[in-house]
Order: sequence, then structure tokens, then C-alpha cells
Amino acid sequence: MTHSAFPTGTILGYPRIGRRRELKRAVEAFWSGSIDAAELETRAAALRADTRARLAELGLGRTDSAIPESFSYYDQVLDAAVAVGAVPARFSRLVGADGQVDLAGYFTIARGEGEDAPLEMTKWFDSNYHYLVPEIGPETDFSAHGERLVAQVEEARAAGYLTRPVLVGPVTFLALAKPVDGAPEGFRPLDRLADLVPVYAELLADLARAGAEWVQLDEPALVSESLEDAPERIVEAVAAAYDRLGAAEDRPALFVAAPYCALGDALPALAATPVEAIGLDLVKGTVPERLDPATEESLAAKTLVAGVVDGHNIWRGDLAAAFDRASALANLSGSVAVSSSTSLFHVPHDVADETKLDQRLVGWLAFADQKVAQIATLARGLTEGRDAIAGELDAATTALADRAEAPGVRVPAVRERLSALGEADFARADYDARVAAQASLELPELPTTTIGSFPQTGDIRRARARLTKGELTEAEYTAEMRAEIERVIRLQEELGLDVLVHGEPERNDMVQYFAELLDGFAVTEHGWVQSYGSRCTRPSLLWGDVSRPEPMTVGWSTYAQSLTDKPVKGMLTGPVTILAWSFVRDDQPLGDTARQVALALRDEIADLEASGIRVIQVDEPALRELLPLKRADQPAYLDWSVGSFRLATGGAAAATQVHTHLCYSEFGVVIDAIRNLDADVTSIEAARSRMEVVDDIAASGFDHGIGPGVYDIHSPRVPSVEEVRSLLERAVAEIPASRLWVNPDCGLKTRGYEETVASLEHIIEATRAVRAEVAVTA
Ligand code: GLN
Ligand code: ZN
Repeated sequence: MTHSAFPTGTILGYPRIGRRRELKRAVEAFWSGSIDAAELETRAAALRADTRARLAELGLGRTDSAIPESFSYYDQVLDAAVAVGAVPARFSRLVGADGQVDLAGYFTIARGEGEDAPLEMTKWFDSNYHYLVPEIGPETDFSAHGERLVAQVEEARAAGYLTRPVLVGPVTFLALAKPVDGAPEGFRPLDRLADLVPVYAELLADLARAGAEWVQLDEPALVSESLEDAPERIVEAVAAAYDRLGAAEDRPALFVAAPYCALGDALPALAATPVEAIGLDLVKGTVPERLDPATEESLAAKTLVAGVVDGHNIWRGDLAAAFDRASALANLSGSVAVSSSTSLFHVPHDVADETKLDQRLVGWLAFADQKVAQIATLARGLTEGRDAIAGELDAATTALADRAEAPGVRVPAVRERLSALGEADFARADYDARVAAQASLELPELPTTTIGSFPQTGDIRRARARLTKGELTEAEYTAEMRAEIERVIRLQEELGLDVLVHGEPERNDMVQYFAELLDGFAVTEHGWVQSYGSRCTRPSLLWGDVSRPEPMTVGWSTYAQSLTDKPVKGMLTGPVTILAWSFVRDDQPLGDTARQVALALRDEIADLEASGIRVIQVDEPALRELLPLKRADQPAYLDWSVGSFRLATGGAAAATQVHTHLCYSEFGVVIDAIRNLDADVTSIEAARSRMEVVDDIAASGFDHGIGPGVYDIHSPRVPSVEEVRSLLERAVAEIPASRLWVNPDCGLKTRGYEETVASLEHIIEATRAVRAEVAVTA
């Protein structure tokens, strides 16, 4: 079998939402019924055509498989599920006579319909992208449906391109799946590998027939040690899968990419298979110094694709170092190519769209288009020699030097404060003393509260838009927000909640709000990245030393507190979450940056306390997300992440009740870290899993206040009083009532008022009933 050569420069994937979020708009228009499927297809095809043209213009080859077909209407894992026929039984009505799922059906699997819950959603490796979790059982009937991808390859060819289709690989697909409900104890989706691989072989054959010379299979499961299946099992699966796929006669050349971390022990296993090219993440990982002779021999015959341009962050970076790293692979193979370390869908489209950013900062940045150009440069260096690109390498080095010296990047006052920190700054009074001091809050047993935000109504969003456009003055905007805060406080008093919130109407986003008020951050105009489906976020850029020029939340919180005698929670976003949901400087350890943010929050907490706020919540929903994929790296991460939370809250008086909130129910994974946060009260998600998490909590001996959510805010459904009551009864059976709190799973900002009020009424009524039961037992 002979194959065309792998392109010298490529990317693992490109943003698919569109430079102005055209795909988001088209998809949402389809959902609302204002355009039909044909119109959606037309708009998506136009977007793909633009992407190919842009990538060619930026220097990727038109006809050498350098341009990836990485489009998706919603999610690449859902695409794979549909392509292998893995549609859950509850959606089997959506599969047509030809075995295919049409666009409407595809979105129904993603979003649910009536009683049929959508596929679960969870975070993609260590990113803030969420994929849909396939459901695989012993009976799942796999069959090949590559029509969409085939059509894209043909569409590209008709326009004069030879592109490279991208698919989630079979091992990663199964490793990310969960067993169907009712699967036998111990069953793992990966048990079905031998049945799935022949279907992938068929997909590959279809793509080859359509003219694809290379196909990319993404196998990030290979680099992770945090999946349910043991790393050894995944490595074995990869060997089996690619031996089988490689043995097929009628296949394209195979490029297996392993983004997000080092391949480590999986490299020899992959090297021993017949795949033609292997993609290595050389931003997060390195190639082992020594490889065994057999691995060296097999690698020598393959293309090594050096992922040296960071696909996960927005810095222009050290291009010369990237070139050297790629060139060094020449020791291992005569065929070396350069690529992004991951798909570029984690970064926005184009720095050139940012007209309001400081021009000096712009010179340090590279969004997707700039990264593609960098890769084209490096590829030219590989073919023509370093001298041919010396000018570009030097320009990047100069920008890096400029960045190191620019005002604001290293602020002496911030650095002195950090270096003066001692152990005492990370600890509060002991817990029992705090409980005693906080008795002055006079809370009932099973106190009720919410997570912070109330529904963000159209009026609130319009007011913010008008402020931005200059149609509202700052004073008019403040007045509108205050009126909203007053409504939310009155509502909570009427409902009878115990610890109130101000409702967060003034926050566009829980991270960006703070980024706009802190020094060291910049915000973009068009820097959207896909979070899931049609949902996008606009991460802020954390480029310099962080400090707080003035209080950020005190005005809103004290206003809210002035309206009521009940305690109102101050509401802050924690340092880890601020980092996780921003693009963060890469020129110092994350822990140093986190401690700078923590100090700014610490000052905010001191100001809140001084103005009479007695309960303060510091949200850390992203604590789990940044957990490194390699076990060996996890302790150091937990040390700095937990440390930064403790630094932020460590100055709070014993009488101040510190809350935290985490957005997931995999409590067990990070239980020690959560304990070490040492918050007085922790609220977590629990309603979706029907309080399963209380077992973990009880088993772990967690002995601070805990509020397992009783209301799934991801759904418009209103839980009944009985339902909430049974959840609470389940919780009090395992957790002493004196430590149990009652709250929803998360903030209410995406909900409407109608269901919010009804749900909160039911929660309060259920709580009263369970309080009475507990009193009787006592
Ligand atoms: N306080 C935030 C809110 O209620 C928390 C959001 C979150 O956990 N993602 O909206
Ligand atoms: Zn949450």
C-alpha cells in the first residue's frame, strides 16, 4: 500500500462556530423554526467553504490533506456516535429507514425531548469544552453511517481541495462513553471494542472511496490517566484497534493524534501498529529521552507530527523554541511535520478582529488564524531550512522580550506582597471556634439558600447592552440593577429563604465581571469560543500581574444587605475558576498567578466584612476541570489550587461564614481537596444523580456544612414537594441535620421566573416538613 506524503504543516482542527458566531445563529434559528434544515445545511456549507479558503490563504496546502474537515453542528463526540449508529434506545424513533439520523434528530439527541433526557454532557479533557457522553451497552448495535463526512470530502473536492477528515478515534469514543442504564455490573463500553472497530474500518473505506488520502483519528484518551478505564487497558485497546484498522486493504493513510498531554507509555504501543503518522502534543508533553530499539525502528518509518504551536492558549509564544522542538524529532524519523498541539477550536478566530485591544498586547497574541500562519512558517523552515524563516522567528522572539518587559507584566508591589506570605495567611481559626462564632447568624436547622444568581431577564440584558452602547448612563444602569436587586430580595423574603443573595443581575459572566474590574486582565470583543453546542464563552486575557484597583462587589452587596435583616451572601468567583475560564499568561507557574488573584479577592472579602456582610461565598465550579490528566501532576495542582482558595478566604474572621460552590457531583474524585478548602459550607450538584453523592460525603467523614442540591436547574422542570422531600430525607439519613443545607444545584440565571418561584416554594415547603420530622426524631 503506498500513500501520499503527510503535509509538512497542518492543524488538528479549526474553530467551527464562525468568525461572527454564524453557526450559532444558524443552528438556533433552525431550533426556533425560523429556517429549515436545507437553509441550515446551506449556511453550514458556506462556513466550511470560508474555512477552507481561509486556511489555504494562511498557508496550508490545498491539495495535500493539510486542511482538516473538523466541522460539527454540535459536538464531535455526538458526530462519532451517530456515525457508528450508537443511538440510545430512547431515541430509536429518530433513526430513519436508511439507518441515518437527520439534522432534527441529531439535535434531539443532543438536547432531549419531553421525557427523553438528552445525552449527558461533561468536560472534554482539561478544557472548558463539554462533549456529549455516548451510552453504550452489551446490545448496542454498531453500523457505519459516514455519509455526512463523505459529503464534506466531496464538497471540498468539488471546490478544488483535498482535505483530511477528522473523527474521534474508536478507543477514545468508548473510553468517554458510559454504560447504558441496566448494563450488567462491571460492564465497560471499552468491552465492545472488537465490535466497534470493524465499523470504523468501514467508515475509513468509505472516506477512501470519496477520495480522502489521509484520515485523522483523535485519541486523546491515550494521554489521560483520569478516565474510568485504566491507562494500561486503553493502551492495549489502542494496539488492538490500530492493528486491525491498519490491516485493511482499502483504507486511507492513518494519522492518529494524541493531544492534551504526553503520550508516555502509549507511544511504543502506537508505534508498533501500522498507522502512518502519529501526532504528539509537544506543548504539554515531551518525547521520552530514550526509546527501545523496536519503537525507534518503527517510528523511523512513520511521520511524526510535532504539536508545537499551543492550540489551547492564545499566546504568540516562542516560535524559535517551537521550531527547535519540531526539528529535534528528525533524530527519530526522516519525516517530521508541524501542527497545533490540539485542535484550535479552544481559541478564537482572529486577533485582527480585536480593534479595541492595546496594540502592544496584540503583538503578543496569536488566535487561530495567527497560529495557522505560524505553522505555515515552521513548515517552510522544515523544508527550506531555519535561515529561510529566521526573520519570522526573530520577530516572535522580539515580541516575547517586549512582553517580558512591558509595564504591568511584573508589578513590584504585587510581587513583594506574594513573597511576604507566610503559612498563617492560608489558615482560618479552627472550625469549632468558627461554628461557635457564627451562631450569631441565628440560622434555623436545615437553612435554605440559593447559589447566587436569579434569572437574567431580557430587561437586565437589554439594560447592559444599552449601557455599552451609551444609551444608558452609569447612574441609570445602577438604578435599574438596584431595582432588580430589591425585587430579588423581596421575593426571597416572601418565599422565606434563610440566607439571601443579591441575584447577580450586574454580572455578564461570573469571570468576565471580575476580569473587567481587575488590573492585569483584558477583554476581547469577538473572542468567542465554543463551550457546548451553540453556547459560547468569551474568555478574558490574563496577561499581567493581577491587583484590585478598587472594591468590585461591595456596593451591590451592601445595598442588598441594607434592604433586609436576613443575612445576604457576598458573592465572589474563586481564583481557580477565574484562571480556568480565562486565557492565562504562560510565563510563570499557574500557582503564582492564582495567588495574585487570591490576594485581590482577599482584599474584597475584607472590605465586604468591614461593610457588614456576614456570609461570603467564593465559587469554585472549575476546581475539578483543571485537574491534570496525569496522576503524577495532580498533587502539585491540588496544592496550589486549594492553597489559592485558602489564601483568598484565609483572612476572614471566625464569625464570617465562608461558603463555596462546586458545579458537579463527582465529589469522590476531589473529596480531600474539598475538605482542604476548609469552607464553612459547601454546596454541590446532587439532584440529577438523586443524591447519590451523599454516600460519598458520609463515607469520607466530611464534617463541615454541606448543601447537596435538591433542584436540577439545568432543566425547566419544577420538582414537586414530595420529590424534594424524599431527596432531603435521603440526605438527613446520612448527614447530621446540624450540618445540612438546602439549596438548588447551581445558580438560577438561565431559568425563567415562573419555574424558579414554583421550585423554590416547593423547596421551602419540603424543608419545613423535614425539619419537623427531624425535630420529632430528636
Ligand atoms: N454564583 C454563581 C451563580 O449562581 C455560580 C455559578 C456556577 O457555579 N457556575 O450563578
Ligand atoms: Zn454551579
